[in-house]
Amino acid sequence: MNIDFNKMNHLVPAIVQDALSGKVLMQGFMNEEALAKTQESGMVTFFSRSKNRLWTKGETSGNFMELVSMAVDCDGDSILIKANPRGPVCHTGADTCFFEENASKTGFIDQLRAIIKDRKNNPNDTSYTASLFAKGINKIAQKVGEEAVEIVIEAKDDNKALFLGEAADLLFHYLVLLEAKNYELDEVMEVLMERHKK
Ligand SMILES: [Zn+2]
Repeated sequence: MNIDFNKMNHLVPAIVQDALSGKVLMQGFMNEEALAKTQESGMVTFFSRSKNRLWTKGETSGNFMELVSMAVDCDGDSILIKANPRGPVCHTGADTCFFEENASKTGFIDQLRAIIKDRKNNPNDTSYTASLFAKGINKIAQKVGEEAVEIVIEAKDDNKALFLGEAADLLFHYLVLLEAKNYELDEVMEVLMERHKK
């Protein structure tokens, strides 16, 4: 990473984003030591101007932010960090320092889609997903139909765990079907957004 530490008195702003939800969690400052410690320890560490020392987020609260990736902006004077927070980020107890809720896990769908794509492109013998792709489109489509019937059956009952299990099965096989057809979930979103405009 090519960072210009001299521009602002050896400190650069670091913006931390939740790796899963994309929510902006907080902003701090890093010097070269804070950056090195973040990379070494895997826990996001800043230079605290009030404490005048390195400060690993979570060192007192236990709510560390696990480093996922780092990127530098176009002119080398700002860092974007993606992280997994272990708890609420703000000292006020809020999920983020901008008082936004950060409870949604739907961002995991994109990670799951990436895994499904990888199982298609790099199949291995032990992967259930790869075995679906190997059986072909008819089998995958049939599987979606079966899972749809199963969720209908559970919908008539009152067992939350069984219903959620079938809902997960249906969503998973639906994503596999899209991948088998070489369509992106974004293309489905475009259809929905177009309908919403009307
Ligand atoms: Zn805060």
